[in-house]
Amino acid sequence: MTATSCDTLLPTYARLDVTFVDGEGAWLVDAAGKRYLDFVAGIAVVGLGHRHPAPLAAAQAQLERLWHVSNLYWTEPMQELAASLSQRVGGARAFFCNSGAEAVEAALKWARKATGRSEIVALEGSFHGRTLGALSVTGQPGKRAPFEPLVPGARFAAPDSLADHVGGETAAILLEPVQGEGGVHPLSSDVLAHARGLADAHGALLIFDEVQTGVGRSGSFFAWQELGVKPDAVTLAKGLANGLPLGALLVSQDAPTGFAPGDHASTFGGNPVACAAACAVVDAVDETLLAHVRTLSSLFASRLPVRGLGLLLALDTDGAAGDVVAAALERGLLVGSAGPRTIRLTPPLTLTEDEALHGLATLEEVL
Ligand code: PLP
Repeated sequence: MTATSCDTLLPTYARLDVTFVDGEGAWLVDAAGKRYLDFVAGIAVVGLGHRHPAPLAAAQAQLERLWHVSNLYWTEPMQELAASLSQRVGGARAFFCNSGAEAVEAALKWARKATGRSEIVALEGSFHGRTLGALSVTGQPGKRAPFEPLVPGARFAAPDSLADHVGGETAAILLEPVQGEGGVHPLSSDVLAHARGLADAHGALLIFDEVQTGVGRSGSFFAWQELGVKPDAVTLAKGLANGLPLGALLVSQDAPTGFAPGDHASTFGGNPVACAAACAVVDAVDETLLAHVRTLSSLFASRLPVRGLGLLLALDTDGAAGDVVAAALERGLLVGSAGPRTIRLTPPLTLTEDEALHGLATLEEVL
């Protein structure tokens, strides 16, 4: 069955007509046995590459022991992961869920509860997810319009007009350090510092949505470490468990706890198998891998007019991005898009230099 002939799925995606059956490192194999170099990595998810031995062994070992007990009880992988993420933040408490949108939902509820205020200031062009709360703070009117009315209290600012929107009713300023889905637009350290200053001046919270930029993709574990401005809370998902569903809201120990028992929950949140895999991922994102990400980022920038941070990169195309995606696929290279004329490159962080050069040569041919 080809993807286009499938009438048993709701048509929420315009899938390419390829079915993948195997993966290893930066390579995928389709049902016909054709190999592809993967510069998408499941949209910035499979950071360590397909079937990386560390999360694979950790998840397999946990599968053999215990799958699920609910959040009525403690499990070891969840506690271990919370401790290891807390260390990365410099002291934080975690709420675990299953996706990026859920992490943003948790952040929105936390900010309202912690401040007693209801307004969220987000940026024009931002993307925070497709659930109703996350969509309400997504700064792309075309994505919101068919689902209105949405959750009230969202305000959208341009980076240089934040001050016009933040005030005594602001619960939080919510920012992606690099706007991913909206076209890969990095925010400058100055904008982030300005947002930090505004939040502090008005008693609001500063939340960074690092669902896409987090877990090493920026060249630091968190993009805010690259940019030098620390938020009160951060959301993670995509790369956290290398492909198993896991999201997190991390609230800095200096910020208000906000939540009390009963305020928020997720049946599957903190699943032991996903958390075991994530512990292995967090351990693997060490200084050596982060240095490799920065080296590869420079290599891409030396060959193509890319913008972005670390291995979250994009370049604009003369024609339709979809044509470039299709032509690259034909030649055995997966690339993504982020807008009608923007190619997005989010390869595994473990991509080798040889693989990078091979993919770059293919992409140059296609462009
Ligand atoms: N936040 C950001 C910054 C994202 O890039 C995304 C997904 O692309 C989301 C939230 C939503 O994540 P999910 O698709 O896992 O719900």
